[in-house]
Amino acid sequence: MSNMKQPFVTLEQLKAITEQFPTPFHLYDEKGIRENARRLKEAFSWNPGFKEYFAVKATPNPAIMKLLHEEGCGMDCSSLTELMLSDKCGIRGSDIMFSSNDTPAEEFVLAAKLGATINLDDFTHIDFLKDTIGTIPETISCRFNPGGTFTAGASKEGFQVMDTPGDSKYGFTRPQLTDGFQKLMSMGAKHFGIHAFLASNTLSNDYYPTLAGVLFRTAVELHQEIGADIRFINLSGGVGIPYRPGDPANDIAVIGEGVRRQYEEILVPAGMGDVAIYTELGRFMLGPYGCLVTRVLHEKHIHKEYIGVDACAANLMRPAIYGAYHHITVSGKEDVICDHKYDVTGSLCENSDKFAIDRMLPKIDIGDLLVIHDTGAHGFSMGYNYNGRLRSAEVLLQTDGTPRLIRRAETPEDYFATLLF
Ligand SMILES: *Cc1c(COP(=O)(O)O)cnc(C)c1O
Repeated sequence: MSNMKQPFVTLEQLKAITEQFPTPFHLYDEKGIRENARRLKEAFSWNPGFKEYFAVKATPNPAIMKLLHEEGCGMDCSSLTELMLSDKCGIRGSDIMFSSNDTPAEEFVLAAKLGATINLDDFTHIDFLKDTIGTIPETISCRFNPGGTFTAGASKEGFQVMDTPGDSKYGFTRPQLTDGFQKLMSMGAKHFGIHAFLASNTLSNDYYPTLAGVLFRTAVELHQEIGADIRFINLSGGVGIPYRPGDPANDIAVIGEGVRRQYEEILVPAGMGDVAIYTELGRFMLGPYGCLVTRVLHEKHIHKEYIGVDACAANLMRPAIYGAYHHITVSGKEDVICDHKYDVTGSLCENSDKFAIDRMLPKIDIGDLLVIHDTGAHGFSMGYNYNGRLRSAEVLLQTDGTPRLIRRAETPEDYFATLLF
């Protein structure tokens, strides 16, 4: 299935927005975010307890979190400040899933105070939690790591999902789950959840159903072995998005149906037809509905052709650290032939600070606005201050077409705020 990757914003709109808010900034598409959240909900509407806990780390912004909460989502937090952020947004209690690892004591304290559902990453955290908050919550979840390799999906198109949980630092082993649930029960836990995150950015409609199969079978075993009352299965994140033109987009309706089939085959016959399905999607919820808008400052002609823009890897780290592909549109030149080969660079004193390498694009002129696609998740949030570069603003393109500043750009005062002279 081809994917033409048109930006969600036109040059005319960008001209108006950049008059109010100087580049660079991340721009988010409220309409796209809401419609996608509704599609997800619809895909799992067969499961009455279904809930998406948005992975806050993907896009930790109150405006985004509140609009997802309006769409029925809870928040998946993994740190103290993410918990505080959720609290400040008025999102608390069972609307928070706390999925962290290597967890400091103060984070368990706040999670418990907010009434969050705690998802333990390790067997030893059972005693640590008890010692920290003085009790074991009645409802608690454990993260499973089956080890080995995990594969899902058809290989012939090259979009088979493969990952190696055996090398990942997260979760309980299978025997530890049995021991852990028993121990938790002896300490007062009554209701359980099981969570696993086995592959990232998957482009296969088979990832969630295959993972669901693993978790559903594990749940049935735990129920039969030790009588654990399993209330929810958390499929976590990992559903991917098509960063490249031509990548196959996941079809969330097909994914939801695939999970339903596993549910009917495994849980229902075991008398577990009341288990709720949770997800903790980040990238799938926001990735395509954000872009980084940046202006061309310079062109440079040496051994290669360079386009220098006013954003840099401090605003979007994925290309520099993972070599990740982000599609680029020269705004207003959507229909112009891509007959120029450029490296598109930021200003960091790091040669990896390139948004694109050998990318075929239309002829670019100084002052052009570039749209760097799919930065809505793990974009702004991975930003940093290397080279003294400042984090950009975030702007929400609201459903009514007007832009709203949802985070101001950092100023030098912010940069200096933590320094002691
Ligand atoms: C990062 C993360 C997610 C979200 O992952 P995506 O790939 O963005 O869907 C969900 N759960 C946990 C525990 C995570 O660490």
